[in-house]
Amino acid sequence: HRWVLFACMLQGIGWAIALGDRALSLQRERDRAWALAELDALTGLPNRRMLDRELGEARAGWLLICDLDAFKAVNDRYGHAVGDRCLVHFAQCMREALAGAAIFGRYGGEEFVAIVPDGDGDHARSLAERLRERTASTPVHVLGDRHRLTVSIGIAQLDPIDPRTALSNADRAMYRAKSAGRDRVEMA
Ligand code: GH3
Ligand code: MG
Ligand code: MG
Repeated sequence: HRWVLFACMLQGIGWAIALGDRALSLQRERDRAWALAELDALTGLPNRRMLDRELGEARAGWLLICDLDAFKAVNDRYGHAVGDRCLVHFAQCMREALAGAAIFGRYGGEEFVAIVPDGDGDHARSLAERLRERTASTPVHVLGDRHRLTVSIGIAQLDPIDPRTALSNADRAMYRAKSAGRDRVEMA
């Protein structure tokens, strides 16, 4: 009887391990599917799909639209692969300047978005300034050159009724920053 009991126990342990293993691989698969759907493959930041969802759910706060300056010239001068490295570099600047204070990601091309959920306009502006300064002060090393990357940022307050109006307001402010000379922050 003791041997039968022992064999049953062993079998039980085996099943438990197999079940745990299955659960773990299912979880890994879910994580991978989520990463494919919601993260930008180049920078690892949230992609437009995730940002649009966050924007739809945001009821207060500030929206930052960040557009890299003269980016076409970067591609023309150094090639597309270096352009890509600059995008990865800017993503890192965003992490360093905004982590913990905003939800941020790549909205498309060389355009990035940040949602600042708390604080007043001064707070949003100082975060944007921090990002702008960090970007301008950390050059990208390319082919023995140090390329100074800059960014123009437009800020708008999120509208609790229609969060998407903030997108066009921030976009207009960003274009004001462009026409005022780039490497600037403008408030809608
Ligand atoms: P501005 O200062 O007015 O923003 O000038 P710009 O050159 O940045 O503006 P424009 O919109 O003319 O150019 C954006 C460029 O960004 C063009 C496009 O080739 C480049 N770009 C967009 N997505 C990518 C990408 O994924 N990788 C690389 N390397 N370049 C990209
Ligand atoms: Mg652009
Ligand atoms: Mg640009």
